[in-house]
Amino acid sequence: MKCALVTGGSRGIGKAVCIKMAAMGYYVLINYKSNEAEANNTLSQIKANGGNGEIVQFDVAEKEQVQSVLAKWTETNPEKYIEVLVNNAGIKDDGLMLWMKDEQWDNVINTSLGGFFYVTRFVLSSMLLKKYGRIVNVVSLSGIKGLPGQTNYSAAKGGVIAATKALAQEVGRKGVTVNAVAPGFIKTDMTEGLDEKEMAVLIPVRRFGTPEEVANTVGFLASPEAGYITAQVISINGGLYS
Ligand code: NAP
Repeated sequence: MKCALVTGGSRGIGKAVCIKMAAMGYYVLINYKSNEAEANNTLSQIKANGGNGEIVQFDVAEKEQVQSVLAKWTETNPEKYIEVLVNNAGIKDDGLMLWMKDEQWDNVINTSLGGFFYVTRFVLSSMLLKKYGRIVNVVSLSGIKGLPGQTNYSAAKGGVIAATKALAQEVGRKGVTVNAVAPGFIKTDMTEGLDEKEMAVLIPVRRFGTPEEVANTVGFLASPEAGYITAQVISINGGLYS
């Protein structure tokens, strides 16, 4: 059975990606860190639409957790194979660098960049054996342009962008593609405190994006049809930056 693992699938963009993957026929592994109720909600929506999946809880920033939970899952599910990995889990903890605390730097870097490394390294071996795989990393405009107040977040996402390009060159000949999507402002819990009306004047399409608009691009990159696209970063930002 072909599976799609989506990190941070309990809320926001990750939730929309889980629903999209299920609609594409995948059995979806919904990862989350602490919000079990929302992870259950994602699974219920998938089931209500006629799809299926399960919840796999771990903190992507904790390498032992990633390793032990995924190893156990693989052992107990020998008939299942993770064909698609969407590294979506991410946090922000903004502040000017002058006043940034060690934990702010470490937590943001460890979640996006560390999480990408620990989860991808685990999943990669079976993709290479099967000679097929799709890895999609959710990065950010902040990782391309750099945003003030986000040196930690820009560094984390910029690091994932560079790793996307490097890994794509390592595994391309094995049928595994590695791409990134870089959202601008998307309506989720992460952007809850932002004033969309005020900021929309800066965005050519004059609004924030929706999680589903990101999920549609992730879905395309995760599909067999996108086999000749690798090492790319696709911006989904309403024209805010190019
Ligand atoms: P969100 O609504 O805050 O959801 C974050 C998701 O990540 C939740 O499912 C959360 O799980 C999970 N998560 C956080 N830390 C985790 C960890 N250590 N281990 C496992 N799961 C973890 O965020 P979002 O807006 O959907 O963002 C999703 C991704 O898009 C992030 O990588 C973010 O940086 C990126 N992004 C977002 C925007 C935007 O405008 N929203 C723009 C550019 C990029 P719990 O529910 O358990 O907390």
